[in-house]
Parts: sequence; structure tokens; C-alpha cells
Amino acid sequence: MEIEKFVRPNIKSLTPYQAKEIPCRVKLDANESPYGLSRQVLAVLSSRKGRDLFLRVNRYPDPEAGSLKKVIAANLKIRPENLLQGNGSDELIYYLITTFGGPVLFPTPTFSMYGIIAQAIGEEKVGVPLDEEFDLDMKRMLREIRLNKPKLIFLSTPNNPTGNCFSSDRILRIIESGSSIVVVDEAYQPFASEKGFIPLLRDYENLLIMRTLSKIGLAGLRAGFLIGSQKIINEVNKVRLPFNLNSLSQAIAEEVMKRGDILKRNIKSVISERGKLFREMSEMDGIKPYPSEANFIMFRTAATDAIYEGLLNKGVLVRNMKGVVDGCLRVTVGTPEENRTFIAALKRVVSNRGRKK
Ligand code: PMP
Repeated sequence: MEIEKFVRPNIKSLTPYQAKEIPCRVKLDANESPYGLSRQVLAVLSSRKGRDLFLRVNRYPDPEAGSLKKVIAANLKIRPENLLQGNGSDELIYYLITTFGGPVLFPTPTFSMYGIIAQAIGEEKVGVPLDEEFDLDMKRMLREIRLNKPKLIFLSTPNNPTGNCFSSDRILRIIESGSSIVVVDEAYQPFASEKGFIPLLRDYENLLIMRTLSKIGLAGLRAGFLIGSQKIINEVNKVRLPFNLNSLSQAIAEEVMKRGDILKRNIKSVISERGKLFREMSEMDGIKPYPSEANFIMFRTAATDAIYEGLLNKGVLVRNMKGVVDGCLRVTVGTPEENRTFIAALKRVVSNRGRKK
């Protein structure tokens, strides 16, 4: 049977998100936190409360993720009614495009899932190149908004993979430009020096914000949140699958988020390590790191494929940005030890190449 005949054309031409497991010693390719669960959380999970939780897996989870949302809302200083839970923020992107439709507009390069999901749902996507500084190119953005009248605009700030925050005044001009819903994706906001857009929710009804627990230590749980007016949250909630956040994820995330100080310590360490990595990479011949407000650094180098492979041969996995930002690699900030291993490997790979020339 020719299955292909049945597949919708927009799915046929789609390339799946690249998330291959590549064996390595030091994994710095996926913008995860290098820090796992703390002993305090493990103690709670192996206590009576934790055991009861495991014993209740015959029951569906709380469809509203009520207790977790209370903790998240307190953390973000908002009300639980303004939150919608997703199985990672990836799922929220699906829900947003399902709810509002397209065209879906986003600057490029950026997080690939906005375009992949728009295409999967069969909606038009409009990519608008960033300017030389990787900031929003306002002339182009406003022109494309006027021409395409997008229902949804996704702005990842800090932006993946470039690492910078877009200028706040430019983001504001886009929010104020009119009839689109603007989703500010703050997946990496905990690592940024700026405050983020949550305080502006009161002023703009077309503004939505996405947050995730994936970058701050809980990527395996798959928990993301959409933040917005109750009116919009209620609409998006209509397309949410009933039990989208499983009971173990809800419980573990709640215990971790109650202990915000542990997370804060880990985030601080990543920020300070990012500074060290940036300085060391800046001093290396042939390596140009771009300043970052996120938990990764994108860097330009000649012969990216050879350097990527050279690092992998030494056990260090980074992300090759070929096809997205040609000539660049992206490294996630790891533990101090992982970062030392990365820097030593990079120095060796670069100097070996220099000698061969
Ligand atoms: N937004 C951005 C900008 C990201 O980089 C990522 C993860 N790579 C996500 C969203 C998705 O995160 P989650 O794990 O919550 O689905």
C-alpha cells in the first residue's frame, strides 16, 4: 500500500526536529541544565508522600495541575488563572497555533519549532531575518506584519540560537503594531539580566508569555507554561488534551519549585560559568563567541564541521548550526568541570587544525 498517498502534502515536506541521541562524555548540545535533582527533593520523593504518589499511578493526573500551578504562580507573582500548563512549551506552541491559526510570523534564525508546528498544522509561516546584531529588523518586521497580517508572532528572547535579548522597545513596538497576538518566549529568561515581560501583561491584552522548566533543571519532566489574560488562557485551554501533564511530573516539579533557592543557586552558577566561558573563548584565535543572555553561547569558527567532529572525538557534544547559522556552533554552559573539558578540547582541536595548515 502506498502510504505516502495518504500523507498530507504539508507533512510530506516536513523535516522532523533533530533530537538524535549521540553518545558522548560531556553533553553540551541541548541547552539543558547540567544540574539534576537535589538530595532534598529526592528525600521527599522517597518519603511516604512520594511512595503514595507512585502507588496512585492507576489514576489519571489532576487535569488542571492545580497544585503545581499555585506554586508556579507564586514564583512568578501572578495568579494561577493566568497560567496554562503544557507538556513542555513545545506543546503550548501547538495549542497556540491550533487556537489562533496563521499566518505565523517569527524572526530568523530562531527556535525551529514555531515553523515546524505551523507547517504540521497546515498554517502559513513567515520568517523575517534578524539584523546584523541579531536584533529585530524593524523595517522588515513591520513591513511583513503589514503584508501578511499574522495571527501569531513568536519572539524568543533571549533568542535561541543567537543568545541575545531583542531590544525591549522593538518588542513593544511589535506588540503595539496592531492585530497580532504576540508570544514572547522566555524559555531562557532566568539567565538574562533583563526582567522580562510578565509585568507588561496588565497593559497589553494581545501579549502572551511562555516559560519552561526545561532550561532550569527539569527538561525530563516536560513542563511549560503559558501566561496571559484569563480570556486568552480560557480559549487556548479548549484545545488542551485533558491530562497533558502526567502526575509524576506535576508532583516532582511542585517539590522542586517549592525550593526555589536551589534552582536559583544553579542558575547563578550557570551565569557565572557563561561569563568565564565567553572570556576564554574570546581569547582563542579563530573563535568568535557572541555575547549571550541565555545558558548557551553561539560561536563562529572556520571549518565548523571539522571542529564539531574534533570535539566529538574528544567526547564533547555541541550543536552544529549548519543550515541555521552557517559557520557557527552552539555550546550549552555545563558544570565548571564540563566547561573546563570543553575549553581544553576546543583549544586542542583548533591548534591541531592550525598545525595541519
Ligand atoms: N522555546 C525555546 C526558545 C527553546 O529553545 C526551547 C527548547 N529548545 C523551547 C521553547 C521548548 O522547551 P520545552 O522543553 O519546554 O518544550
